[in-house]
Amino acid sequence: MELFRIGLIPVIWQDIIDFIVLSIALYFILWWFYRNNLLGTALLLLLLVISLQLSTLVGLVAFSFFLRHVLFWAGVFLAVILAPEMRRWLYALRPIGGIRFFRKEVFSEEHAEKLAQEIIEGLRLLAKNGLGALIVIEGRDDLSAFMQTGDPVQMPVDARMFLTLFEKKSPLHDGAAIIRGDKIVAVRCTLPLSDRLDLPQRYGQRHRAAVGISEQSDALTLIVSEETGLISLAYRGELQQIPLLEIQRRITRFYLG
Ligand code: ATP
Ligand code: MG
Repeated sequence: MELFRIGLIPVIWQDIIDFIVLSIALYFILWWFYRNNLLGTALLLLLLVISLQLSTLVGLVAFSFFLRHVLFWAGVFLAVILAPEMRRWLYALRPIGGIRFFRKEVFSEEHAEKLAQEIIEGLRLLAKNGLGALIVIEGRDDLSAFMQTGDPVQMPVDARMFLTLFEKKSPLHDGAAIIRGDKIVAVRCTLPLSDRLDLPQRYGQRHRAAVGISEQSDALTLIVSEETGLISLAYRGELQQIPLLEIQRRITRFYLG
């Protein structure tokens, strides 16, 4: 059924839906390229596709043959370069079953502040005593798979507990401790290492593991460096060295969110 005409071209309702769906798809594709710093590449590809369509339309056989091959190899090249990104992206699309939407505990403001305080005090004590530590607070994404790489425990989130755990002579000090809600539920866990190339040389495996888990989940991770005593936070793939007070605020907000 014709809705209206643009000049001589009749427009039917399928055209409108077609246009909207195509615009949304293009928007998301361009946005994804933009996020990966590849907007220029995306526009170049778009230009190639348009040139291919035009040259096919006007019958430039050899040139369109050439463009088709350029596009094919550009696609292969991009897929190889973006493989790690795509893996991360696919990981984010996991089935809902693995996501703890309805299971994330909700804490009162008072309780959240208390937990953040204990964790910060723990970090402070660890740094003061020259101990390294890796502490992961689970968010909505289920970390059970990583908990299973270590030993299950049931310990309250308590500053002194961290000191005992990460004491060098402690048999449990290696690897990461994972917190679910207001309990430490696993220790000695192995986390996935990030394969990012732009992490500064001074960061070793512990920091790389913190970035790794923050790339694969929405967990908030805290790191105390054994070498420097510096405390950092890893969240959503970013490693940050920010003041303790700011870290405390972030933990409180994390528990409330
Ligand atoms: P630091 O500044 O404390 O030395 P770093 O980033 O230099 O930290 P490393 O010295 O390489 O890290 O590693 C120290 C500790 O990090 C290891 O003893 C181990 O407990 C922990 N660690 C290393 N890899 C992992 C991993 N994949 N998952 C969990 N913990 C890990
Ligand atoms: Mg080191």
